[in-house]
Amino acid sequence: MVVCQRCGTENPEGSQYCGGCGRPLKIFPKIKKKEKEPKKPESELKIQIFLVIIIVALIVLATQIASLPKM
Ligand SMILES: [Zn+2]
Repeated sequence: MVVCQRCGTENPEGSQYCGGCGRPLKIFPKIKKKEKEPKKPESELKIQIFLVIIIVALIVLATQIASLPKM
């Protein structure tokens, strides 16, 4: 069973086109996932990890400064 993402019509398995609206039915989740894998998130992830490391370092630094005996 293939449900059209546009109109919701249920088409028999293997249908290439929707029986309701005629839209081509693309049922290649694996290929779609590959297409949806741009290389940008990887660098964004690295930046996020970098930011987390900086934040953790700042927290550690702040706690160390706070634990220091003040004049
Ligand atoms: Zn349809």
